Amino acid sequence: MSKFFVVANLKMNKSFNESVIYLESLIQNVTNYDDEIILCPSNISLEYFSKNIGKFKLGIQDVDQRDQGQGTGSISASQVKDLCTFSIVGHSERRIQFNETDEIILQKIKILQKNDIIPILCIGEDLNIRKKGFPEVEKFLSNQIKNSINKQINTNNLLIAYEPIWAIGTGKSASISDINDVINVIEKNLKDISDNKVPILYGGSVNEQNSNLFREHEKISGILIGSASLDYKILSRIINNK
Ligand code: PEP
Repeated sequence: MSKFFVVANLKMNKSFNESVIYLESLIQNVTNYDDEIILCPSNISLEYFSKNIGKFKLGIQDVDQRDQGQGTGSISASQVKDLCTFSIVGHSERRIQFNETDEIILQKIKILQKNDIIPILCIGEDLNIRKKGFPEVEKFLSNQIKNSINKQINTNNLLIAYEPIWAIGTGKSASISDINDVINVIEKNLKDISDNKVPILYGGSVNEQNSNLFREHEKISGILIGSASLDYKILSRIINNK
């Protein structure tokens, strides 16, 4: 059985020095390495993390859809291919704040795989769509999947994280039944693209109290954690307390 993925998205938090202390503290406190633990710090810490990450894996929070050149402030997959194993892509904060479309996300997935970095594709609906009922949720998520994954994508090197926008940073996670319904939708759409089994993660207000619920669900292959991963003590407890 493949390992359970725990992805920590530190977002735009921690100075370089704070992230050094964070990594050292995590290494001292985590005792369970049965999980595949993927740390996604801010770009300023990528090089330090890559050299000192121990048994954890390193992920970048996003990459540019282009290979190199005129992208002031951006980082390309080829620039970090020697440092990172994974990359988050299509996070709702990128989609909303930086107007990233499914077409751009498809380009990013292609360029990540070309550079041997495994994309963690985030998909998820907002509250307006959720309130319209499940058929609308299904339509929305199916479009996100179909537009950002095609037959050129290697589904053997891909993770998908279901991250409903209404659950991110709100303290209100999706229920197991919500997640179950969405996993069925994801699997249905993936069947049209390939026979490979893509690990499906859940993200959105995962914390110490609820993490085991997701861990115990046979179809949830991992969790993506934002806020609760910022404190190394909480993240260590989520990883250690099975
Ligand atoms: C996220 O932003 O990807 C996330 C899951 O955040 P949080 O855990 O804070 O809801």
